[in-house]
Amino acid sequence: MSTPSKAQLLNEVHTLLKKRYKPKPDPSPGRLSVLEGIVYGICHEGTTREQANQALSRFKDDFFDWNEVRVSSVDEIKGMLAGLPDPEDRAYRLRRFLRQLFEKTYGFNLDPLAKKPLKESIKALREYEVFGSDYVTAIVIQQTLGGHAIPVDVPIRRAMVRLGVAEVDTDIATLRGILERAVPKNRAAEFVELLEDLAHDTCVEGPPDCPRCELRKICPTGLARKEDRATNKVVAAKHAKVASTEPKPDPAATISDGDTAEPPKPARGKTRHPK
Ligand code: SF4
Repeated sequence: MSTPSKAQLLNEVHTLLKKRYKPKPDPSPGRLSVLEGIVYGICHEGTTREQANQALSRFKDDFFDWNEVRVSSVDEIKGMLAGLPDPEDRAYRLRRFLRQLFEKTYGFNLDPLAKKPLKESIKALREYEVFGSDYVTAIVIQQTLGGHAIPVDVPIRRAMVRLGVAEVDTDIATLRGILERAVPKNRAAEFVELLEDLAHDTCVEGPPDCPRCELRKICPTGLARKEDRATNKVVAAKHAKVASTEPKPDPAATISDGDTAEPPKPARGKTRHPK
């Protein structure tokens, strides 16, 4: 049987995951401004979309505007990122971006970029340090600039390596290129949501929960772990069988060797006490 191409494998992954996670279409595509897309990307990297949406909502509800966020302390910004990993680093990155944006534009509106050719917009955005993150770049392209992008963060990369789509040393930008070539734009948003569900449900950090995973029959890691479990069971059963057929030690033999099981009892009769 020939090995499926990456596109075929990813197509199968998509179909199987869809059966399990049933993604809901985004109720309001294009709901984010370019600036919100950047904040969303900072919040979303390594977390779920629910966590990122909640954090974004807290910023919008609890601050008067983005300028207030810009002049806030890192601790205040961190408070909006409660529950996310590395809140301090995210808070620094967000404040740094808002400061850079204000220094460059004296405002907080990047939406004119959404009307420019994609390459031109990306070139302009790369002037901001936050775009050093390939994940944030891909989120902004996908969510606000209308381009084709498949954001890859550490959890998604982990699942892709286990599935054999990437090597352990494939970097995130290279993996994104592989995925974007294999998955067409009209399926990309749903595909990313499904990968995210997988990476935060069964294909988690540490030992993955393969027996519960929808991909266990096609995933090389899942199949190898199943084989290991089966081998371990056989070995354990053999050990148990050998142990049950070994002769048991004879307790009487132990006593006759002088190794008494109980301390010797004192001789019967009255004990003589010196007068
Ligand atoms: S089978 Fe296991 S390793 Fe493979 S994708 Fe599923 S959880 Fe991850």
